[in-house]
Amino acid sequence: HFIGGRYVEDKSGSRFDVIYPASGAVIAQIHAGTDQIIEQALGAAQAAQQDWAARSGTERGRVLRRAADLIRARNRELSVLETHDTGKPLSETLYADATSGADALEYFGGSAGNVTGEHIQLGENWVSTRREALGICLGIGAWNYPTQIACWKAAPALACGNAMIFKPSETTPLCALKIAEILSEAGLPDGVFNVVQGQGDVGAALLQDPRINKVSLTGSVATGRKVYQSAAVGLKQVTLELGGKSPLIIFEDADLENAVGGAILANFYSSGQICSNGTRVFVHKAIKEAFLDRLSARLEQAVIGDPLDETTNFGPLVRDRQMQIVQGFIAQGISEGARLVCGGRRLERPGYYLAPTVFADVSDQMTIAREEIFGPVLSVLDFDDEGDVVARANNTEYGLSAGVFTRDISRAHRVIGKLQAGSCFINSYNDAPVEAPFGGMKLSGIGRENSKNAIEHYSQLKSVYVRMGDVDAPF
Ligand code: NAD
Repeated sequence: HFIGGRYVEDKSGSRFDVIYPASGAVIAQIHAGTDQIIEQALGAAQAAQQDWAARSGTERGRVLRRAADLIRARNRELSVLETHDTGKPLSETLYADATSGADALEYFGGSAGNVTGEHIQLGENWVSTRREALGICLGIGAWNYPTQIACWKAAPALACGNAMIFKPSETTPLCALKIAEILSEAGLPDGVFNVVQGQGDVGAALLQDPRINKVSLTGSVATGRKVYQSAAVGLKQVTLELGGKSPLIIFEDADLENAVGGAILANFYSSGQICSNGTRVFVHKAIKEAFLDRLSARLEQAVIGDPLDETTNFGPLVRDRQMQIVQGFIAQGISEGARLVCGGRRLERPGYYLAPTVFADVSDQMTIAREEIFGPVLSVLDFDDEGDVVARANNTEYGLSAGVFTRDISRAHRVIGKLQAGSCFINSYNDAPVEAPFGGMKLSGIGRENSKNAIEHYSQLKSVYVRMGDVDAPF
């Protein structure tokens, strides 16, 4: 754990292993937070928060921007750690994780001075509003982007003057500790950002404490429901970034190479372990076979291997359990009649490697078209009518992302306008710049991360009425 500006350990907490997914080797052991550790973290956050909130936004922002610079300077070291934590290839982690965390710290560092209220004149009287911190925010992370998730939650929370206790995923617990160290080195006062390790029960225990004012979870819908329920007891604010089963629609006039590239980014980056992935790829019947041919040919070029070798661009799944889950979905796809175009098998090498997998002739009712797989499995579904494909694309409980490939700009906007998803893409997929709001509709979540929107999710408004004249009381 990292509490009050330093590493702490309570060896009486249950011990769990951190596994390097490319080999299966145990690379670290962590003790879960005990009641005493949880109390220590809450005490440290409480002791630090008000002084932090009392600083000017510019002063808070300067610390965050300094942390962003330190992260960039140490990008390689942090990326190597993230690769050990997650198994994602260095060719990805060097560009998409710590750097994205640094972007968030830089953006919200720059925004901190703009966290202001407004003046509302009412004749000679007026109201002024103050945008104030919520207090102590709890961040709970998923395992796929441990550095990015820690920063995406910490940066707006801290910019607004909150303290944060972050509980990383038990599967990838190492990276958030480095972010805590770096924030400290950048000048963050002790106790403003703390990391408490453990499984779901530790997150649940923290959330139940009345000193926690807000929770932001990145995780599955099942966990989101539990967190929402628990937060409801104390009417705590929530941000939920949950799962998805997003559609990617490829029309017959699309640039084929770009569409294939989009489908690859939407399914195989991070070995498919991305919430916003476009796993239901609707391809117009007229180009379906050409699309499948090019997709299969390009997938053969994937360099699968040692994630620490920078030429590798496809790594293992995060753990054995995930491998079993994904293999189960593949078996179901085959038994329900989908056509296996390529992949579908575990690779014979140490670690949890699964070949990039493509199914064609997938129908809307099949399990692989309905449930989030969280692995490198792309399903191709046919269509020939625009209205019909939009209805089918929306026929899911999820609503995280959606994409369209077409050269027809009117059609692109018409279709995107009808798709029920929080993050949409036209002739692109899976971009997540910090300037844009990120989050889901329907079961994919509540609230938005990133962008100026996130400020509203980590602050509250106070209205101050000022009367210039006498008080006119009835008696
Ligand atoms: P998960 O739901 O199993 O766990 C997420 C986190 O919640 C972990 O830290 C876990 O320890 C904690 N947790 C579990 N039970 C809890 C409880 N009762 N109270 C408090 N905390 C609890 O998810 P995962 O397997 O780590 O991640 C995969 C899921 O996350 C997928 O569904 C994926 O789509 C989703 N995800 C969403 C986004 C997004 O931004 N929308 C990003 C990445 C991953």
